[in-house]
Amino acid sequence: MSDSALTIGVLMPEVLGTYGDTGNAMVLRERARRRGIDASIITVGLTDAIPRSLDIYTLGGGEDTAQALAAEKFRADPGLSGALEDGRQLLAVCASLQVLGMWYRDARDQRVEGMGVLDITTDPQGHRAIGELVTVPLVDGLTEPLTGFENHGGGTVLGPGARPLGRVVAGVGNGTPLGHEAAAEAVDGVVQGSIIATYMHGPVLARNPQLADLLLSRAAGGPLEPLEVPGTAALRAERLDAAGIR
Ligand code: GLN
Repeated sequence: MSDSALTIGVLMPEVLGTYGDTGNAMVLRERARRRGIDASIITVGLTDAIPRSLDIYTLGGGEDTAQALAAEKFRADPGLSGALEDGRQLLAVCASLQVLGMWYRDARDQRVEGMGVLDITTDPQGHRAIGELVTVPLVDGLTEPLTGFENHGGGTVLGPGARPLGRVVAGVGNGTPLGHEAAAEAVDGVVQGSIIATYMHGPVLARNPQLADLLLSRAAGGPLEPLEVPGTAALRAERLDAAGIR
């Protein structure tokens, strides 16, 4: 953690802010503050330099045209790659997952170079995956099902350097690009180094406090006090029920 307060970045919400994904940073700040940890949100706009020294970076979803601007920015600005070299935590949702990969091809068949920090590629699935998404986490420190909603046309294939975040029990997740054979097991998301990426909106951290606390504890360098936020358990139960999971 940096000198005083925990700093949580929201990167380029103008182009990576669909579906309320900027709420992820608010959840992190609030869960830190309720434990007496001073925390603040730093919003970094498309034309700002990306600071290298934030504790946690959050990146949200975006439309095809908008996310291409984010890809260009990540290729040109050294701030985020520096932060990742330093082991800073990063949460990426949907379009951001795609943009952090080697490249992605969007619905108009435009191939866009990504930042190359995730060993993944994305191609169109030929349809949009829309609806509730539930997974069983495959990452140490997460024991509860992950819940969110997805809305994406891209299907993402993981290379050997990347691992999935969860095994899909409802919904599509990373999906299958057109012309690819479906994997034996459907998975969602990507974990590589200090990056956790998922197709889940929600915001995902509002629906999955355990995931929020994993990011916070990694950034704080140690375990956190338990924290119950009223309403969270009911929200989770409602959304899991909506996905047919009990
Ligand atoms: N534009 C991307 C897709 O459709 C990502 C969408 C999103 O971020 N929700 O695959």
